[in-house]
Amino acid sequence: MKKVILYILFLITICFILPAIFTNTTKQTASTESIPQENTDLNKNETSQTPVASEGKYSKIKLLHTKTGEVEEVDLESYLCNVVSAEMPVTFEKEALKAQAMVARTYTIYKVNNKKHENSDICDSSSCCQAWISKEDRFARWEEDKREENWKKITEAVNETRGKVITYNSSPINAFFHSNSGGKTEMPINVWGGGGYPYLQVVETSGEDAYTQYASEVSYTQEELLNKLKEKYADIQIDFSNNEDIKITEYTESERAKTVKFGNHNLSGVETRTILGLKSANFEITKQDNKIIFKVKGYGHGVGMSQTGADSLARQGQNAEQIVHHFYINVDIQDVNTL
Ligand SMILES: [Zn+2]
Repeated sequence: MKKVILYILFLITICFILPAIFTNTTKQTASTESIPQENTDLNKNETSQTPVASEGKYSKIKLLHTKTGEVEEVDLESYLCNVVSAEMPVTFEKEALKAQAMVARTYTIYKVNNKKHENSDICDSSSCCQAWISKEDRFARWEEDKREENWKKITEAVNETRGKVITYNSSPINAFFHSNSGGKTEMPINVWGGGGYPYLQVVETSGEDAYTQYASEVSYTQEELLNKLKEKYADIQIDFSNNEDIKITEYTESERAKTVKFGNHNLSGVETRTILGLKSANFEITKQDNKIIFKVKGYGHGVGMSQTGADSLARQGQNAEQIVHHFYINVDIQDVNTL
């Protein structure tokens, strides 16, 4: 009887259990073979196309998405890839992108320590804090065959400057930057008032005139100009037959318009820029027939690093650290974890 039972058990083992074991083994082998291959490929991409994770006190920052109001905690170095790709054209020189990465990192740390928003460190708006774009949105705006290559360039610029922050007296600087200086940068006091910063002075950069951001022109008819100015100064009166009635009466150290006379009002160059929608406060005023023409040099407030200036210097052979030292006076570059 025992023999019969043993035989039956043996048969059950042969027919059901062993095949089940082998089937499982086969499945496991198949899956363990396929997954690591995919992972290996992913890892290959990751080493060159994703930033090395941050460490230390400033490793994570709270990013406010202005459109949704959502606050997302992001890795600093990873966040910087999204910032650099939003702030500077990827076609710029690698050393310019690296300078931008250091500037963006510094600006971010400065904002962490000098908060503008209640529940976050920084927001994604270029007009408020610093531009940010998701990788998906960035990719959608690049040609398909350039996407991976472009992202690799951005990631390398961030990785190769990993943790590097621009400091003055061992504190992160207020690293202002703009698009095109028109050849000379501006002192912050002429844009926002206040006491200024010792590291933000007027510096000259050659080659900025080669960029499309350098020169622009805006023209208004007499009536259009008057209506624009009346939005802010209802009692404004201009004698258009008198050439002295519209005129720049004072210039800043960087040769931007400091004070502009419009009839019975004197406006600052910066206010004129805002009201009339000019790309910078570096302009000349000319008249032609019924039109008043503003010929503008540069793009942006002009303070700190000029992005096209950075690219121009890189093309002339300067590296990222030299570019940083060109635009910010007497600064040091130190690791974020030594702050
Ligand atoms: Zn903000």
